[in-house]
Amino acid sequence: MDHIGRIFRPPSEADSLLLQISVGCSHNKCSYCAMYEMDEQRFRIKPMATVAADIEEAARISAAGATIRRVFLCDGDALILPFDHLVHILEMLRDRIPTVRRVGIYGDARSILRKTPGELARLRELGLGIVYHGVESGDDVVLEQVVKGSTAEEAVTAAGRLREAGLRHSVMVMLGLGGIDRSAIHAARTAEILTAMDPPFVGALTTTVIPGTPLARLQEAGKFTLPDRWGLLEELRVLVRDSRFSRCRFDSNHASNYLPLSLNLPADRDKALAALDHVLATRDENSLRPDYLRGL
Ligand code: SF4
Repeated sequence: MDHIGRIFRPPSEADSLLLQISVGCSHNKCSYCAMYEMDEQRFRIKPMATVAADIEEAARISAAGATIRRVFLCDGDALILPFDHLVHILEMLRDRIPTVRRVGIYGDARSILRKTPGELARLRELGLGIVYHGVESGDDVVLEQVVKGSTAEEAVTAAGRLREAGLRHSVMVMLGLGGIDRSAIHAARTAEILTAMDPPFVGALTTTVIPGTPLARLQEAGKFTLPDRWGLLEELRVLVRDSRFSRCRFDSNHASNYLPLSLNLPADRDKALAALDHVLATRDENSLRPDYLRGL
């Protein structure tokens, strides 16, 4: 497979064929992000011939017995690619690897809203099954500070468009992204946006300040301070307590988090709040994931 640079994928795509259809991120401005910082990762759409060759290679592997059920289209925000381009790739996957049951992709409010409802529905018909969307915060002040490139309202509109098209939506939010100063309002507004979006999947990640990023420079200048572990858990508690979902798989089991939870909400809300209250009341470090086991 032709893989350029480091390949990122959601944890739930661990067993998927990672098909890189673009390199880097078309936005590449979020202040906390160092995913695509290398020169070789500057954003570009990969030639269709390269993608077709990868699909042929995967088809041969699949025909030899390594059945491929899931495909993840890399890199960051690959949904930004033109509709016709995505259609061609999905048609090739459908025709050459008929065992594929679901295709996933990273998208954000910009890339989702650039597709019409009809285009998104067509992509779903061709096998696209889930869009992973880093919403990060429901607070427009935080979104502007981190140069997310979209607003809370746009994220809610994007969620509605995906739902209308029948596409599953997995939303990531980031604990601590507002720093200490906006911790409470970031958590409250993130619970509000999750309620408004009502996605079937939510992943809460903990902000990690990566050296060399604009966020790290703010931290070095004393202009950003990440809440401590208890402050981060307070934010998680607000999300669990105040978000209202029809039916949501809510995970905080990403490696960056101090307290891994896997919840079905709303059913598990009371149980989760009791666990969080206990940890926050006792401040028992032993109940947290140690720092040496945390990572991106
Ligand atoms: S949209 Fe995602 S990949 Fe692109 S810069 Fe922001 S966080 Fe990084």
